[in-house]
Amino acid sequence: MARMPLVIYPDEILKRRSADITEIDQALVDFARDMAETMYLAQGVGLAAPQVARNVRVITVDVEPDDGGKALLHLINPVILDAHGRTTWEEGCLSFPGLAAEVKRKKEIHVQAYDLEGKLVDIEADGLLSICIQHEIDHLNGVTFVDRLNPVQKKLVVRDYLRRRAEDQHDDRLEAIRSVHR
Ligand code: ZN
Repeated sequence: MARMPLVIYPDEILKRRSADITEIDQALVDFARDMAETMYLAQGVGLAAPQVARNVRVITVDVEPDDGGKALLHLINPVILDAHGRTTWEEGCLSFPGLAAEVKRKKEIHVQAYDLEGKLVDIEADGLLSICIQHEIDHLNGVTFVDRLNPVQKKLVVRDYLRRRAEDQHDDRLEAIRSVHR
């Protein structure tokens, strides 16, 4: 298994709609395993393929990362068939380092997807698992969690995030220059 580099917002890859998977072969199984490793190493509970630069409909979710992979899910071409209720959670995203925001979503969802063996699976999800699957399926449609905020809130949150990122990159460059001259 191998860790893959994460795509960071505002990369255009995160704004594209991802294509359906048409064949579940060994290359896809290896890719899904690399996604899981990347997610665990980054201490995330979910990852969508566009976040590792592949615009295909694959997501990896594990909302209990400390149980040794028992709760790990790989979902291929996931579709939400039914959704009920409303809820609000504070969400973060591996593609937005350091950012958290409260997002309104459906409370319970019924999801259908293929697993890595090509079997159709049905999942009834509530709580964090529901939120996480909705967040990752959004990524497959080119939607990030800031797109779920109202337009004014989104503008403020994104502006602060981009400003902090620019400052961090500036600090990194200064540090690089200092170490060259040391
Ligand atoms: Zn995300």
